[in-house]
Amino acid sequence: MDPIRTSRSAKAGAAKAIRVSFEFFPPKTAEMEQTLWDAIRRLAPLRPNFVSVTYGAGGSTRERTHATVKRILAETMLTPAAHLTCVAATRAEVDAVVAAYAQAGVRHIVALRGDPPGGIGEPYSPHPGGYRNGADLVAGISRIADLEVSVSAYPEKHPDSPTVAADIDMLKAKADAGATRAITQFFFENSLYFRYLDRVRASGIAMPIVPGILPVQNFKQAKNFAARAGASVPDWLAARFDGLDDDPATRKLIAAAVAAEQVLDLVDHGVTDFHFYTMNRADLVYAICHLLGLRPGNGAAVPHPAGERVG
Ligand SMILES: Cc1cc2nc3c(=O)[nH]c(=O)nc-3n(C[C@H](O)[C@H](O)[C@H](O)COP(=O)(O)OP(=O)(O)OC[C@H]3O[C@@H](n4cnc5c(N)ncnc54)[C@H](O)[C@@H]3O)c2cc1C
Repeated sequence: MDPIRTSRSAKAGAAKAIRVSFEFFPPKTAEMEQTLWDAIRRLAPLRPNFVSVTYGAGGSTRERTHATVKRILAETMLTPAAHLTCVAATRAEVDAVVAAYAQAGVRHIVALRGDPPGGIGEPYSPHPGGYRNGADLVAGISRIADLEVSVSAYPEKHPDSPTVAADIDMLKAKADAGATRAITQFFFENSLYFRYLDRVRASGIAMPIVPGILPVQNFKQAKNFAARAGASVPDWLAARFDGLDDDPATRKLIAAAVAAEQVLDLVDHGVTDFHFYTMNRADLVYAICHLLGLRPGNGAAVPHPAGERVG
């Protein structure tokens, strides 16, 4: 008989709680605002470690990101983290955004370089008076206020990076500048994450590398995102969604099964922290968190045995 999976045999005692965070994007219309807030209200009782709000390309959502973060602060008990990029802005402009967040009571920034104004694939040139990259921004933020700073990490290498080693050097520079957590680009093969984690730890980077999980609400869209983000889409994943273009109900069940398989395997390998790209939809993420043992009101309720790896 197969040994029981760690994720199915959570024992009290040598416990390490599961912690989750949720990523949202700022809504463009009143209807999207309603969808976002339905998702926030559904997921909030799971007591995430934090919820983050993205920053549109080139700072295009600056006001909307700010408004969403402020509303989360005003209307919920959640801890918001505001994403911020260096794109198309001077240091003084970015600094002013950071200062405004600190003033509004935001304690956590997700600091990013951002994509070039012309879109992914175009060469990136920093604004002449701006922050050059993620590490430079992290250093800038720590000069302005004492905030928690999370950064990005790329298990399959950032598309701009010449090598995995160069990519990990950038991660190390971000940690050295004061970042305390990295959140990964999404990935579908856990082996890619574990291989990356081994290389990161071998480089002396100790901060948590929290896996970013994308529940595949829409396979075509996910494939598109993946192509732009340099994330691979395995053939087995495509095969699972094959023939379901006109069958959203089955697609949703498959998406839940795929994501469940992925996160439970990560738990089996000792991962305890997860960041979910929610796409402003709660249902799949809620179901996966339930499988992880989270229950409304008590957050990280079901303890899991400590594993060797801490993501
Ligand atoms: C968790 C997460 C959240 C994100 N949130 C947002 C968001 O809210 N808004 C948004 O617009 N984007 C977001 N992104 C996407 C991100 O902005 C892009 O991937 C962007 O291209 C890189 O930003 P970074 O902070 O990862 O860059 P950095 O960490 O500065 O660089 C990423 C890698 O690219 C390489 N690199 C950087 N610059 C160069 C260069 N000039 N030449 C060669 N190599 C280079 C480095 O090796 C480095 O490892 C997010 C990504 C992740 C993983």
